[in-house]
Amino acid sequence: MHAVRFHEHGDIDVLKYEEAPEPKIQANEVLVKVKACALNHLDLWLRQGVGDWQLPLPHIVGSDISGEAAEVGSQVKRVKAGERVLLSPGISCGQCEMCFKGLDSACRSYTVFGVFVDGGYAEYVKSPEVNVIPIPGDLSFDEAAAVPLVFLTAWHMLFTRAQLKPGEDVLVIGGGSGVGSAAIQIAKSVGARVIATAGADWKLEKAKAIGAHEVINHSQQSISGEVRRFTGKRGVDVIVEHVGAAIWEECFNSLATYGRLVTCGVTSGGEVKLNVQGLFGRQRTILGSFMGGKAELLEALKFIARGNLKAVIDSAFPLREAAAAQKKMESREFFGKILLHP
Ligand SMILES: [Zn+2]
Repeated sequence: MHAVRFHEHGDIDVLKYEEAPEPKIQANEVLVKVKACALNHLDLWLRQGVGDWQLPLPHIVGSDISGEAAEVGSQVKRVKAGERVLLSPGISCGQCEMCFKGLDSACRSYTVFGVFVDGGYAEYVKSPEVNVIPIPGDLSFDEAAAVPLVFLTAWHMLFTRAQLKPGEDVLVIGGGSGVGSAAIQIAKSVGARVIATAGADWKLEKAKAIGAHEVINHSQQSISGEVRRFTGKRGVDVIVEHVGAAIWEECFNSLATYGRLVTCGVTSGGEVKLNVQGLFGRQRTILGSFMGGKAELLEALKFIARGNLKAVIDSAFPLREAAAAQKKMESREFFGKILLHP
């Protein structure tokens, strides 16, 4: 089969479009013919190398996958060959305390397609049956690939971690990112007021089009100043954040008393200053969030199937142009998900 792999870590030119062996499935696995695979920032980190993670090389990244079940193992009962499917990105043991609590991403053996197992930058990928979800309704393969990782991440951040309640004010940093565009819609769908930031005016227009009530250009305006203006100096109840160092203090200063800042990433660096007085004096909470559970994805998919939440797609590239797709992601000139088509 054709796949995009890297044999060593490095810049974009380590990505090679080449022949790779087709995956062999086990009895409890499904071979999926990939129709679409969405990019995530994770793909870029993995290509560059993450800390002391020892990825199997050569390696295929890609965590958000939709396609057709091409072949099913002898013990597979639920999934039928030919079925249109999407893959739940998180792979966990399914039998530990955390898995049974629905906190899959806290499972000790947790991984994600494209991390310690091959992902979707390929014509075929293999998956445990338990990760295979029928595509709901008439969702296209592109829409189905654009949903899983970002919607389950945003769902876990807003509900499981930050305990968002109807009517609260939510600030979404980077409203044009995959997680940001999902968080705007999810927060709005439960009656929150959403303030979104982005670094370009064309992205702010799009953020409004998908549901943001107010917007802030964070490259030209003060986030905390605008938040004070929008909230009558009160601050916001919840902040959804994945940028880190560059905007940390502005975010922290935007939190209301009893506000919760939930973060799932550090695209601008992970070392920040913390004003502890502002933390306890205002009874604020800082929360870490990482991926989410399969159950949360299934919940989000109900909203997707009914059209209450929508996949936000920026563009699609042929698989052989994966390097150009990653370049676009690095340039930040996108809004929503960038897809690959094998
Ligand atoms: Zn487990």
